[in-house]
Order: sequence, then C-alpha cells, then structure tokens
Amino acid sequence: ASSSTETDIEEAVKVCVRIRPLPDCHSEQRAWSTGSIEQTIVRTGPDNNDNHSYRFDNVFGEEATTDQVYDTMVQDIVSSVCRQGRNGTVFTYGQTSTGKTYTMHGIISSAARDIFNFSEEDRSDRDRKYLLTCVKVSCMELYNEDLRDLLDRGIAGGDSSSGLAIKEDRRGNVQIPNLTERVVKSVEELLAVLSEADNNRTVGSTAMNERSSRSHTIFRITYEKKEARDICGKRVQSRSVVSSENDTGVECTLEGLMEDDSGDKENGGLRVKKTSKKMVTTVSTLNLVDLAGSESVRHTGATGDRQKEGGKINQSLLTLSTVLVKLGKREPGHINYRDSKLTRILKPSLAGNARMAAICCITPLMQFQEESKSTLDFASRTM
Ligand code: ADP
Ligand code: MG
Repeated sequence: ASSSTETDIEEAVKVCVRIRPLPDCHSEQRAWSTGSIEQTIVRTGPDNNDNHSYRFDNVFGEEATTDQVYDTMVQDIVSSVCRQGRNGTVFTYGQTSTGKTYTMHGIISSAARDIFNFSEEDRSDRDRKYLLTCVKVSCMELYNEDLRDLLDRGIAGGDSSSGLAIKEDRRGNVQIPNLTERVVKSVEELLAVLSEADNNRTVGSTAMNERSSRSHTIFRITYEKKEARDICGKRVQSRSVVSSENDTGVECTLEGLMEDDSGDKENGGLRVKKTSKKMVTTVSTLNLVDLAGSESVRHTGATGDRQKEGGKINQSLLTLSTVLVKLGKREPGHINYRDSKLTRILKPSLAGNARMAAICCITPLMQFQEESKSTLDFASRTM
C-alpha cells in the first residue's frame, strides 16, 4: 500500500480496483471515476455529499485493458512462482456482472504465456540447472461449501457432486485426494483445459446464473522443476542427460560424468565422479480464483434468520474476507483458515511467503453505488 523503497517489506496483498467499461451509459449515470491523483477513485455524480476518495495500489479506469491489469498486478507473482518456487494467489472480487470472470480469463491467458516462457528458459538454461519442468492444471468449483472437480470427466453436465474432500496431514500439508490434474505442454493446451472446466460448470445447470454468482472457481496451475542433486543434497550439473517423457510429466535418467563444484581441485578444478544422483522436485502453485459475487454475503449475511435457514450464507467468502484483511494488515495472532473450505484449500498459497493480489471489480453505475462502495470498503480494509 505504500510507495516502494529498497527497505520496504514486500506487501502481503496487493489490491487494485477495476471499473468495468459501459460505453452506452451517460455520464450522469456514473457514480465513480478515477481520481485526478493517480491510484485513486472518487465518487462523482449529483448526490455526491461525501467527497471520499479511495487510494489503492492501482485503480484501472474504464479504458484500461486486462493486459494492463495483468502487467501491474499479476506478472510479478507468476515470476515468483516460476523463479523462486513461491506460491501465489490472485482473486477477482466484486458484485456479479462487474467483470470478474472476464478479467480472470484474460489473466489466465497471460499467466499461461509467461509460465511457458519461464519453462522454456528453465529447460534451455545452459547450466542445466533445472533438467526438466512440468506444468499441471486443475480446476475446482466451490458452491455452498461443496467442492467439485471441474475436470472430472464423469461429472460433465451433472449437478451431482463429486464431493471432493480436503485433507490435512500432521505437518499441515493440504491435500485434495482424487482431484484431477492435467499435464499441459503449451498455452493452447492449458486454455483448452480452461474451456473444458467452463463447460463442466455450465452444461445442464438451469439455475446457472444463480449458481455462478454464488460459487467460487479455483483454477490452479502447478509448476514443477526437477533438478539433480547428489547424495548430500548438493545440486549437481550433468554433462549428458537422457530424458523420457511419460504422461505424468517427465522421468529422467542421468548418465555419464557429473561435475562437482565442492571446491576439490584435483583434475583441473573438476572432480569426476560416477555416483548415482537423485532427482529433486520443486513444486509451486498459482491459484487463480474467480470469487462468488460479493453481494451474496451482503444480501444473505445481513438479513438474518430467514436466509440462514436456507444455508445460503457464503461462509467461504466471509472467511476469506476476514483472512485477507488480517494478512493485509499483517495482524499478529491466529488466522482462522479452518473456518471455510476456500481458506483451507488456499492456505498454503496465502500463508508463509506466498504472494497475493486482489482485483476488486466494480460497475460505474449510480444505481449500484452502495454495492460498489462496499467493494471499495473491503478493498481498503485489505490494504
Ligand atoms: P462477473 O464474472 O463479475 O459476473 P463478467 O465477467 O461475466 O462479470 O462480465 C459481465 C459482462 O460484461 C460479460 O459479458 C463481459 O464480457 C462484460 N465485461 C466485463 N468486463 C469487461 C471489460 N473490461 N471489457 C469488455 N467487456 C467486459
Ligand atoms: Mg463470473
């Protein structure tokens, strides 16, 4: 939230607002516009009594493109995932119809392009630091705390749930047994999996709009790198590598002479060994989360018992909001990841040194200004 200097600690959560374009709408119908000061958004219009201006890491006006949003908010996170083995999470938050899915789809395309570029670089690295890389994707839908696998071919079109479970081992590792993971070898393959997931989400669902506005979609990209290490865990470089790819990614056999940079100076600086090496895999994940419409919390959460009976309160969205606010404030103390499925699933990509970005979407329309205000208030709290 502050200007970056060399001594700044990295922000836990970067927050921006995007105002969706409405080309046919008159200026009197607009309640918000980007401020004259960069990175601010102001309330405009006739009944504008509070001249409140909000400031975020970025504010994208109606003319901004999704590429601009990606470049300023997401690219760094993708780079950390591929280069540093850190986890990352990007959310689109906001009222239904404000452009969350539109924005997230654009982000997924750009992230895919960058990830495969990193993968290419890693593989062609002259030092052969990383022998092999692998990109996998999975996609889940969380609706009413019920978790579905959107790539499970058995459930296409059905409303019946595959009911994925979330398991946590004693060391706190989160696992989702039976979740489909697809290995993808190109941007095109990745985008094909994205549309497959989209189809599984929509086909046959009569109450689609209602459902999509209340459900969260988690598109997860896993980046794996394999490197060779010797028996002491030290990284080694290989003179010759024979690799064979199979459908779960890659398998690798190392042959021949291994260099050892342990400082042993015999053999002209290189000690030649013929020991067996093992492959070490670094796994990092990028979660691209298209959240349920934020009105689903306001409208149900506020109205009390009658709505509660229907079990419609979006527990996951409520808990996520709380968690993000705490992470953003770097508040010490306990964070209740366990209070919802969404935060349980995302915990490894929220806690620790994970990097996050929240893209908060609003409409400029006057008639929805209270809803937009609540999105801006949420966004401010997570800064
Ligand atoms: P949400 O997912 O928040 O409900 P959508 O992403 O489905 O909203 O957007 C609603 C409609 O507005 C879609 O038809 C979408 O294509 C369009 N839309 C949203 N944002 C933009 C944008 N920045 N530029 C062009 N069209 C947009
Ligand atoms: Mg949507």
